[in-house]
Amino acid sequence: MSVTQAAAYAVPAPKSPLERTTVPRRAVREHDVLIHIHYAGICHSDIHQATDGWGEGIYPMVPGHEIAGVVTEVGPGVTRFAVGDRVGVGCFVDSCRECAYCLRGQEQYCSRGMTGTYNALDKDGEPTYGGYSTHIVVDENYTVRIPDGLGLDVAAPLLCAGITLYSPLRHWGAGPGKQVAIVGLGGLGHMGVKIAHALGAEVTVLSQTLRKEADGRALGADHFHATSDEATFDELAGRFDLIVSTVSAPLGFDAYLGLLKVDGALVNVGAPEEPVSLNLFSVIGGRKTLAGSMIGGIAETQEMLDFCAEHGLGAEIEVISADRINEAYERVQSGDVRYRFVIDTSTI
Ligand code: NAP
Ligand code: ZN
Repeated sequence: MSVTQAAAYAVPAPKSPLERTTVPRRAVREHDVLIHIHYAGICHSDIHQATDGWGEGIYPMVPGHEIAGVVTEVGPGVTRFAVGDRVGVGCFVDSCRECAYCLRGQEQYCSRGMTGTYNALDKDGEPTYGGYSTHIVVDENYTVRIPDGLGLDVAAPLLCAGITLYSPLRHWGAGPGKQVAIVGLGGLGHMGVKIAHALGAEVTVLSQTLRKEADGRALGADHFHATSDEATFDELAGRFDLIVSTVSAPLGFDAYLGLLKVDGALVNVGAPEEPVSLNLFSVIGGRKTLAGSMIGGIAETQEMLDFCAEHGLGAEIEVISADRINEAYERVQSGDVRYRFVIDTSTI
């Protein structure tokens, strides 16, 4: 069964509320799978883009890059998936497949630019539409398998929030004997706590207040501190091997760099809309690294899903019907989410 039009929720123009609509989905090609979407997570990046906070938005926009569903049709050349398979799609649906980064499985850093799952143009120049929809057609090479042990609802947020934390935690060696801090206990941050704990690191949450302390400890944090309390920065000075910041607003990096050991790394994954300033003495003293990281490649995303299934790590979610997306956006912006909204796409 091919679907040429799929029901969806779209942002018609920057900052407009989302509305129900339909979007075209291409007929399944040689290597495509048609996915019946069951759940789509709401990432803060969706809100940055829906409001054109990062600029260059393409409208109408159907956000959604935390997609979990079931394959309902496969192209004749598909070898990795069959009808009935439980699958996921993350932040990108194509890349050049030829550059050094694509060849080494770092498609997210494709030198010609990966094709975003939404708010992008595909190789035919057609706009891509994301996961707030009933169906999507994706090349099998940009589709991952959701292990049986993970529910599709709690797996959906792993496709962005999970991999965005798993990749830097692995790259910078979070594990036994390492002091790791996660800044911001939101959608990304809560998965960071779970994954860093499962990797064997000693985990500290740095949250604006102590309001989420009980949750943070239940997620696997060993320590929890409020960044609104200046004493935190004295008490924890020089403590961490690795700090991952997930904060969606500009952060005063100098204070956080002071919390690193010599040779420690502060990896920023939050994507604020404004530039930040930095006193370079904060990195010179202590040979410190300030780095960034963006999602992860396809193979690493599969590895992350298998790791999460093995360790029983789904996201903490609040499932909502599609008519509550606009309300959920407001709640994310006001910090009122524990810890990811997931849309039941059968309600679209
Ligand atoms: P989220 O659920 O809203 O969580 C962000 C957390 O940051 C909040 O829960 C809050 O935690 C903290 N925070 C928010 N405003 C703050 C402020 N003004 N000062 C200090 N802390 C603040 O968002 P998310 O979905 O996790 O996404 C977080 C950011 O990562 C967004 O900018 C998003 O676009 C970006 N992102 C990047 C990638 C990547 O590949 N690099 C991938 C996905 C998303 P506390 O209440 O605990 O302080
Ligand atoms: Zn995201």
